[in-house]
Amino acid sequence: MTELPEYPWLEPSRKKLLSGGDTHHCLLLSGGAGIGKAVLALELAQRLLCEDLEGEDPCKRCPSCHLVSHSLHPQLHVLIPESLIEESHPILQVHAQRYLDSGRSTQKRKPSGQINVDSTRLLSETLLTTVAAKGRKVVLIIGADAMNRNAANAMLKVLEEPTARTRFILVSSYPYRLPATIHSRCIRLDSPTPSEQETARWLQSRHDVDPDDLAILFRSGLGPLELSQIIEGQRTDTIGDLIRCCTDSGDKVVDPLALAALCTKIGTGRALLILQSIALVAIRERVRADSSPSPVVRGLFGSPKLALEAFKRLGVARERFNTPVDEQLCLEDICAWLCSAGGRQRLSPRL
Ligand SMILES: [Zn+2]
Repeated sequence: MTELPEYPWLEPSRKKLLSGGDTHHCLLLSGGAGIGKAVLALELAQRLLCEDLEGEDPCKRCPSCHLVSHSLHPQLHVLIPESLIEESHPILQVHAQRYLDSGRSTQKRKPSGQINVDSTRLLSETLLTTVAAKGRKVVLIIGADAMNRNAANAMLKVLEEPTARTRFILVSSYPYRLPATIHSRCIRLDSPTPSEQETARWLQSRHDVDPDDLAILFRSGLGPLELSQIIEGQRTDTIGDLIRCCTDSGDKVVDPLALAALCTKIGTGRALLILQSIALVAIRERVRADSSPSPVVRGLFGSPKLALEAFKRLGVARERFNTPVDEQLCLEDICAWLCSAGGRQRLSPRL
């Protein structure tokens, strides 16, 4: 049986969720990216489907628990955007296939970052036409903010007229992107992001990682699960190069093509996320006036105005990557802007 990983920082949320009963039919689980919300949602789904609860926990022995653990439960319905599939837990990956295949063409293309209306309609039809032999149906929507407008409208109809004994769990790191109409149907639980010290303890218990490398990785603002994947994939050096290139670069001129090449090596989507996270860290550091300037504000995002503009532009660039744009052109464009704006900042530091 596949055991679900445990994340100590999610323990308070887990206790609250598992002991809270199931009084509401739709839960919105939010919190920082890469902290393990999807796994917590999966555990809650297993609890809702369990036929023989052990106190507040799923028994992990009944037929329903076995079906969930073996990715075979017919009444666990999972929607995930294709772009998040690879980094999802294997149980979620397999359960999500039934809705992913619906809109997939045979042509090779980049994974979609959206949950489209075809998937949501197929979910709606499946909920209407299948009968839960006993127990419930549970719908998990991981990355719920990735629903495009049509998908969100179709989902709203499902939430407004839910099929019998159906529970919905929406998971989102960016809940403000969800329409207010969806929000109004949900009760929301925010999970806190672990502190740097807590993340360091957890990472060091799993990996042999140099504390200096870890200090550099923390500048990225990424969550513990993403950092763990980076260390596991032995990409610490490459990611470290990108972070060093944009933080603590002092008066060094950053070459846009070199920056773009580094992003391509890392994977453009993840690289843009790291750059946007660094811009956010720089903005936060500037807001906290009491803190002494860290390497983050001695680099490309040194001026508050530039950090804010970079955060917005990187957000737009990340959105554009979910559409059929020329990826390389878009990457070079944002890198050219970052390096040129960074250069102007050096000439006029109070920009
Ligand atoms: Zn069970």
